[in-house]
Amino acid sequence: MTPPSLADLAAALPCDPLHLRADQVTALLAQFVQPLTASEDVGMFEALGRVLACDVVSPLNVPPHDNSAMDGYAFAGNQLVASAPLTLRVVGKVLAGATWTGPVATGECIKIMTGAALPAGLDTVVPQELTRSDTKDHITLAANLLRCGDNRRRQGEDLVQGGVALQQGALLTPAALGLIASLGLPTVAVVRRLRVAYFSTGNEILSLGEPPRAGAVYDSNRYTLFGLLTRLGVQVIDLGVVPDAPAQLEAALVQAANQADAIITSGGASAGEADHLRSTLPPLGDAAFWRINIRPGRPLAVGRIDASKITVKSGSSAYASSANSYKNNSSTPPNGPLLFGLPGNPVAAMVSFLVFVRPALLRLMGCTQAPPPLLRAVCTEALRKNPGRTEYQRGWVSTASDGTLQVRTTGPQGSGVLSSMVQANGLIVLAHEQGAVAVGEMVSVMLFDGVI
Ligand code: AMP
Ligand code: MG
Repeated sequence: MTPPSLADLAAALPCDPLHLRADQVTALLAQFVQPLTASEDVGMFEALGRVLACDVVSPLNVPPHDNSAMDGYAFAGNQLVASAPLTLRVVGKVLAGATWTGPVATGECIKIMTGAALPAGLDTVVPQELTRSDTKDHITLAANLLRCGDNRRRQGEDLVQGGVALQQGALLTPAALGLIASLGLPTVAVVRRLRVAYFSTGNEILSLGEPPRAGAVYDSNRYTLFGLLTRLGVQVIDLGVVPDAPAQLEAALVQAANQADAIITSGGASAGEADHLRSTLPPLGDAAFWRINIRPGRPLAVGRIDASKITVKSGSSAYASSANSYKNNSSTPPNGPLLFGLPGNPVAAMVSFLVFVRPALLRLMGCTQAPPPLLRAVCTEALRKNPGRTEYQRGWVSTASDGTLQVRTTGPQGSGVLSSMVQANGLIVLAHEQGAVAVGEMVSVMLFDGVI
């Protein structure tokens, strides 16, 4: 199925497609990005953070049999009489992993350990510490202590045989790994790992190891992107720094497209004299250059490199080092790799990644899990803000003495000030329509924990 073009999508918007709201961009990307379908089977130790390619159907009941939730004594609960103590003779013992097949008559019980299967006909367990032993092989439990069925874990109460244990699109968390393992499944089908190539652009950008020079700055975006992408569990392809030169930019885009499902560039995405993405990208495929009403991170380029264009370009010697694997690999996105051109300013690049690119990559990975909800916290300082754009301010969220969440900003909010990002544990999200924030007002926050 051919996905909609960016032009078609933007034309359907009830506004100027070049000046979008953050929520409109999110909605456009959700329509534009089509999930990968290729899958692979991986062992449980390789499955963390991967996305389920199909439903996991439970081949058995978990637990497989009724069993005891406590160390104690198992008996038939119909012997419990309200307001009367019950004395039972202990006729045997069953440990976890063993089964008791002998008879247990009325007035009798079995000593049982946590997790041991309940013998047939026994449905109630009295915890050891709630019993009294007047003779060596008898126990007594006080009146009104238990109800029939207490401390019994039912067969299949966690997962029922034939039921869907986990749905396609789920992101495999530590709990999910344990759940799949509890079904006895040694492997699981996950969407194949995404390959994401990235490079920085700019004549002024120095790679690590290069000597400092006047007018130049060291590259930080490749390192933050490396970290952000690695946390997302994708395979990263680092393509270095590309100067502000159309031919080299084109060569880098084609090289990236030959290897990756998605390409992320930083810098050169606006309309400045040295911003060449705008002229280089459109001939290679479907492209849009948006100005988004957000801060930080106004410019964002989005595109899809046309697979047929790559084959032609990759014949040139400039691309000789990269195998033309893209066209030959049937598991890559059928319509060509996606491109995200982020702004160059380091905080703007990170925020744009978090707000737009990360959800888009998760969608490409086939993930259907809803993003973590924004939290609400009391803002402990006044914030300046004009209605008409969404703002993401770097914040430190903590728990106030009364137990409520509170948040403050972490220093200067310039879009290049990475230190305030380092000091933050989340972003304060100020909605499009919102104006200035007074001390004590509630604001929304996006916590980094679990995200970056
Ligand atoms: P640009 O978006 O290319 O106009 O860049 C905006 C600002 O971000 C400029 O001050 C650049 O020097 C800076 N910048 C761009 N790319 C990087 C990078 N990879 N690392 C650090 N700063 C960058
Ligand atoms: Mg630049």
